[in-house]
Amino acid sequence: MTSPDIDAPLGLLVSGGLDSGILLGHLLEQGRVVQPFYVRKGLFWETDEQRALEKLLTHFSGPRLRPLVVFDLPLTDVYGDHWSVHGRAVPGADSPDEAVYLPGRNALLLIKPAVWCRLNGVQELALAPLGSNPFPDAGPDFFAAFETTLNLAVGGRLRIVRPFAQLHKRDVMQLGRRFPLELTFSCISPQAGLHCGRCNKCGERRQAFRVIDAADPTRYAQ
Ligand SMILES: [Zn+2]
Repeated sequence: MTSPDIDAPLGLLVSGGLDSGILLGHLLEQGRVVQPFYVRKGLFWETDEQRALEKLLTHFSGPRLRPLVVFDLPLTDVYGDHWSVHGRAVPGADSPDEAVYLPGRNALLLIKPAVWCRLNGVQELALAPLGSNPFPDAGPDFFAAFETTLNLAVGGRLRIVRPFAQLHKRDVMQLGRRFPLELTFSCISPQAGLHCGRCNKCGERRQAFRVIDAADPTRYAQ
């Protein structure tokens, strides 16, 4: 693979959670010009998530970080009576990771940013799935096929890159521990703007700090 042109902007799908937040800081430290994208799907936690993301972007602001582009891609009509829409019976901290699978998530997340990149001359689009991600749309087969399909659909040669694809949570947390991780947000059942402390994603978040023996700076509602 040829090394990227460091001055060429790179698109980044960022939710503001630990993984994508750390990837943002990492790419900026590498000197990349980053164009962040947030896809608003109409899901239960997004108001709090987006608010947190804006604080994180303010922390990292500088000449190499471009202004956030927000896309609307409402999924409430597709997901219907799903916990991600109404916020009831959200998978708890002891639920398996599979419980928080959002059907079609990565295909849906990628499509608008990919078209934007095509229209704006951006040739790389990054996202932060880890090697340990269990979902079918987070593995190399999906991304290779989707990249081919996108380029057939819109022309051009957009590359989908996953810098953390070979890493596990511990590696990513070690990479990001010097960043202000209290500014990241990863709860699917927030309470008054705080992490609930009880959902699957809060459980994963607590565990992430535990695996690197770091104090968890998060303010949990419970
Ligand atoms: Zn939570």
